[in-house]
Amino acid sequence: MSFTLHGLAVSGGIAIGQAHLISQATLEVSHLVIAPRMVEKEVLRFETALALIRSEFAALKSNMEHSPTDIGAFIDLHLMILSDPELSEVPKQIIRERRCNAEWAIVQQMEVLVAQFEKIDDMYLRERSYDVRQVVERVVRELAGHPGHAAGKSGKGVKGENLIVVAHDLSPSDVMAFKDQHFTSFVTDVGGSTSHTAILARGMGIPAVLGLHNARQLIRDKETLIVDGTRGVLIVNPDPRILEEYELKKSLIEIERSKLRLLKTARATTLDKVKIDLLANIEELSDVPVALENGAEGVGLLRTEFIFLGRGDMPSEDEQFEAYRKIVKGMEGRSVTIRTFDLGNDKNMHSESTEERKRSNPALGLRSIRLSLAEPKSFQAQLRAILRASKLGNVKILIPMLSHAHQIDQTLAALEQAKSSLRGERIAFDESIEIGGMIEIPAAALAVGLFLRRLNFLSIGTNDLIQYTLAIDRSDEQVSSLYDPLHPAILMLLSHVISSAEKAHIPVAMCGEMAGDSRLTRLLLGMGLRQFSMHPAQIPEVKQKIKQSDISELAPIVRRIMRIEESAKIQEQIERLNI
Ligand code: PEP
Ligand code: MG
Repeated sequence: MSFTLHGLAVSGGIAIGQAHLISQATLEVSHLVIAPRMVEKEVLRFETALALIRSEFAALKSNMEHSPTDIGAFIDLHLMILSDPELSEVPKQIIRERRCNAEWAIVQQMEVLVAQFEKIDDMYLRERSYDVRQVVERVVRELAGHPGHAAGKSGKGVKGENLIVVAHDLSPSDVMAFKDQHFTSFVTDVGGSTSHTAILARGMGIPAVLGLHNARQLIRDKETLIVDGTRGVLIVNPDPRILEEYELKKSLIEIERSKLRLLKTARATTLDKVKIDLLANIEELSDVPVALENGAEGVGLLRTEFIFLGRGDMPSEDEQFEAYRKIVKGMEGRSVTIRTFDLGNDKNMHSESTEERKRSNPALGLRSIRLSLAEPKSFQAQLRAILRASKLGNVKILIPMLSHAHQIDQTLAALEQAKSSLRGERIAFDESIEIGGMIEIPAAALAVGLFLRRLNFLSIGTNDLIQYTLAIDRSDEQVSSLYDPLHPAILMLLSHVISSAEKAHIPVAMCGEMAGDSRLTRLLLGMGLRQFSMHPAQIPEVKQKIKQSDISELAPIVRRIMRIEESAKIQEQIERLNI
C-alpha cells in the first residue's frame, strides 16, 4: 500500500531506494539475572565493549581529520560521555549489586541520567541527554553482538543498491559511516532541524527527513521509498507514475548540480552587471577547503564559539590566536569576518550552576555580547587574539546580539583597550580593522541608525531575527511551522535595514539561513542586498540565481510584493512571478 509521511525537511535533494531498517537496541534490552560466579565476567564483557567503542571512535576521528563537517567535535563529545564514570563505572556497580546483565545495567543508568537532564531547563544540557542516549545505544549494540554504527556492515557489498536508512534515531557518527556505505539517504522518527545529525546531513549533501514520529514502525524492510529532503516528505511504496515523476526530478537535480559545479570560478554578477559578494559561514578550520572549493569570496561569518564548544573552560588568547591564524591563512588573503563568542542560550563552554540552569528564558538572557561585556577579561583575550590574527590577512570583527547604543559604545571601548594594550607590547595588528554588528534583534533592526552611526558594516542574522520577531524558539520542532521568513514583519525589518544601510553607505550582509536559500535570492536582490553569507555548499546554486537575475526588473516587483500582508500570498507571488 502506498502512503506518505511528513517530517522536517532538514537536508535537500531526492533519494529513491529500498528501506533498510535499523533497530533501536536500547528498546529491546531484556533483564537477565546472572549467577554470582558470572558477575565479574559480565563486568569484563562491559569493559571490553567500552574499550572497543573507544578505539573505534578514535579511529573514526583520525579518518575524519580533513572532513568538511564538525564530526571531530561530536566524536570527542561522545568519547567524553563514554568515559564519564556515570556511564563507565556506575553500570559496573549495578551489575555487581543487582547481578544483572551489562545491557540492562547501562540502560538503567541511562534512564537515571536522562531523567536528571530532563528536569533541567537549559536547552544545551537537554541536548546532551540526547547524546547520552546515542552513546548508550552504541554500547548496547556492541554488547548485543551487532557492533559498528547503526549503518553496520550490512550496507557493505550491496553494490548498486540504493538503501535508505529508516531509524528511530541516529548519532552523528552513524551518519558519517554512511559515507563509505551505499546509503543514499536517511529518515528518522526523532530529531529536530537543529540537531547535530541534521547539521551533518546538510554539510554532506545527503537528503534527509527527520521527526517522522513513527516511520520505523510503519515501514518494512526493502519497501521502496522516495525521500524528498527538500519538502520533508517520505513516500512509501509509490505507484509507478509517482516513481517515474520522482526519477525524472532526481535526474534533473543531478544534471543541475553538475552544471553548478562549473560555476565555481564564475563571477557572481547579475544580468545588469551588479557584482554580488558570496561569502561562507564556517565553524572551524576544516570548513576552509570546502568554502574555497565552492567559490566563496571570503568568510562572512566565523562562528568562533563552535571551535571551542563543550571543552569545559574558556580558551586562552594564544589558543584562540592559533585557531584564527590558521583560518585566516587558509583563506589566502580573502576576507575573514570573525564573530566574537555567541555563547549562552544553547551554546556553552562550561556547565553552569543550578541557579543559572534554572533561568527560564535562556535565549533572552545573559548571552552573546551581553556575556562578553559581563566578562571583560575573556572579552579582552578574544579581541586581542582577533587583532593579532588581523596582521596576517584581511580580518573583520563582527559582534553578535547587539541592541543598545551603550553596548556598541562599550564594545568599541573594549576594542580600543585591546588595541592599546597590543600597541604597548609592540604587537602588530591591522590598525584599520573594521568592526560590524549583527542585526538579529528586532530592536536593532528598527533602530538601525544607532548601528550605522557607530559601526563599519552590518550583518543580518535572520535566524535569530525571525526567532525574536515572531516569538518562536528556533530549535523547538513543535513550533517550527511558525518559523516564517516570509512573514511581512520580517520582510519589513529586512527592507528597512538594507535601505537604511544603503543610504548611509554602510555595507550590509546577510548571514542567516535565508541568505543561502536560493528560493529567496531574487527577493533579497530586489530589496537591495548585495552580500550573502551561507553554508559553502549553497553558494553555487545562489550564484546561478544571481547570474540569471536583472535587478532593475526585480526591484519594482519586490516593492509590490512588500505591500502584501499575508505570507502565503507573498509566497504565491514569488512563485508566480518566478522571482
Ligand atoms: C543568525 O542568528 O541568523 C546567525 C547567523 O547566527 P546564529 O545562527 O549563529 O545564531
Ligand atoms: Mg544568531
